[in-house]
Amino acid sequence: MDFDIPENLRMTVETVRRFVKQDLEPISRQVEEEDRIPEDVIQKMRDLGLFGLGIPEEYGGLGLGCLGECLVYEEMGKVNACFRTIIGTNNGIGSQGIVLDGTSEQKQQYLPKLASGELIGCFALTEPEAGSDAANLKTTAELKGSHWVLNGRKHFITNGNIADVATVFALTDRAKRAKGGITAFIVEKTFPGFYVGTIERKMGMRGSHTCELIFDNCLVPKENVVGGQENVGKGFRTAMKTLDRGRLTMGASTMGSAQKLLDLSIDYAKQRVQFGKPIAHFQAIQLMLADMATNIYAARQMVYHAAWLKDATNSSVIKEAAMVKLFCSEMANRVADMAVQIHGGMGYMKDYPVERYYRDLRLTRIYEGTSEIQRLVIARELLKD
Ligand SMILES: Cc1cc2nc3c(=O)[nH]c(=O)nc-3n(C[C@H](O)[C@H](O)[C@H](O)COP(=O)(O)OP(=O)(O)OC[C@H]3O[C@@H](n4cnc5c(N)ncnc54)[C@H](O)[C@@H]3O)c2cc1C
Repeated sequence: MDFDIPENLRMTVETVRRFVKQDLEPISRQVEEEDRIPEDVIQKMRDLGLFGLGIPEEYGGLGLGCLGECLVYEEMGKVNACFRTIIGTNNGIGSQGIVLDGTSEQKQQYLPKLASGELIGCFALTEPEAGSDAANLKTTAELKGSHWVLNGRKHFITNGNIADVATVFALTDRAKRAKGGITAFIVEKTFPGFYVGTIERKMGMRGSHTCELIFDNCLVPKENVVGGQENVGKGFRTAMKTLDRGRLTMGASTMGSAQKLLDLSIDYAKQRVQFGKPIAHFQAIQLMLADMATNIYAARQMVYHAAWLKDATNSSVIKEAAMVKLFCSEMANRVADMAVQIHGGMGYMKDYPVERYYRDLRLTRIYEGTSEIQRLVIARELLKD
């Protein structure tokens, strides 16, 4: 294991760190209030290549590898979560189905535009009756001549309202379900029968939208099955592989958020005076700071190690990725709670960013697989022969 970060990655991380500080941090509050990211900022993200971090270089992405991506997400985690979400779907769940299992024509057609941010991608698996039990989905796809006809309803889809292209999972064989009966499709927003439904009102993550997608006799050309006709029925595997990779980058960004909360808490504890002294002098505050730092240190080692392992062995790191997502998201929620406590009443006020982190981080224990589901994944890996 070698944690010496290559020079090119250091430079990329430095650029992102500067961008976060100079361009994103100053507008974090504005974005929270307006619930939208200004177009000129999205354009800067395109210019920096942030939409294509995880997309191979041959298709116009930066092809950073897992460690490189994690280092970038660690920095992106230090600012309003909606910024990493908009790039996160293109780099992760919105493109990885095509990266991992797409045909070379599909890769040529979609990946360069997803990598440049010209197209926005999304991932549509969850349905009202299929959340943790994703294989219980009800959306169907029936082959009629040269097209598949999709019918059903997805919900909680990040970026669904702005996506140009969605990876959609549908039942092609009711009896087989996850074992050969679910197929992944590349669906463009212009295909007839594709509609955006309700946009949800959420606890946090303002600036990033989550919505319903409706397929009403939606016509998808035969060649838009991810991986081509021979991959009909293999979509559930594609979904699970896509989610595995996202668990590492999600861990990295939550760890970055926790670091930011620690930095804010140290600053506040040094300047807030009570009983004639900065509160940093009180052991009760010091103990919280020490616990926060120790948790972050452990999380960082896990993220870097699992990412290094993935890059070095190119093996599926299912157990490690689930451990990273579980530990980092639970840890960041504990850290956010302590950060609010250290800020006292100010921690509850919208004038201070810790309040926003507290709300936004709550989601990380739920989406892309809840903490309970991560534990089930880890246990399954531990117990298998
Ligand atoms: C803001 C947001 C954005 C999202 N973005 C996307 C997206 O882009 N694409 C997409 O496809 N989905 C998306 N999701 C969906 C997300 O992945 C699901 O919400 C998540 O997987 C949980 O499913 P559920 O909400 O139906 O909860 P449920 O599955 O109903 O779970 C409820 C509770 O029961 C627990 N539980 C369920 N089964 C078990 C079990 N076997 N053992 C122990 N406990 C269990 C859960 O852990 C949880 O605590 C998003 C969700 C949110 C909130």
